[in-house]
Amino acid sequence: MTCERYRTLLDGLDNGEMPLEMIVHARSCPSCAREEAALRAAVALYRLPDLSRSADLVPRVSALLPFMTAPRRTVSMRDWLVSGFVILASIVLVPLLGEFRDLKAAYGSGFTFPLSLALGTFVTLYAGAFVMSHLDDFSRRLKRYEAASRHRRVA
Ligand SMILES: [Zn+2]
Repeated sequence: MTCERYRTLLDGLDNGEMPLEMIVHARSCPSCAREEAALRAAVALYRLPDLSRSADLVPRVSALLPFMTAPRRTVSMRDWLVSGFVILASIVLVPLLGEFRDLKAAYGSGFTFPLSLALGTFVTLYAGAFVMSHLDDFSRRLKRYEAASRHRRVA
């Protein structure tokens, strides 16, 4: 069965039992299975009694959740790495600039301390933003690592 055929049959499905060939297709096709789950959630939402007049927000919001798309990370990992590399490169390269040498000649080395503080703050902010925006990723990796090490201990 093709996905197109599955979706046509799904649209025509009138609350009845799903034919076996559709069940088989949904088992092997995650995209069609998602489609079916969304449709079932929509029908369930439609059938909820007096949802719009209910004073309690929780069932209304939780009924809408299957239709919300998952929040997406807007900055890709490549952009994070590129900006981190630019920050690092500028920290290394700024002391090599002619302007830096001119400033050092004019003010002595006293201005390098505030500059180091500013760069350090910048690096700290970058690292903090990186860690905070990748917490879910880190926890997933940690869980996978723990599961792997537990498996190794058992074996
Ligand atoms: Zn399909």
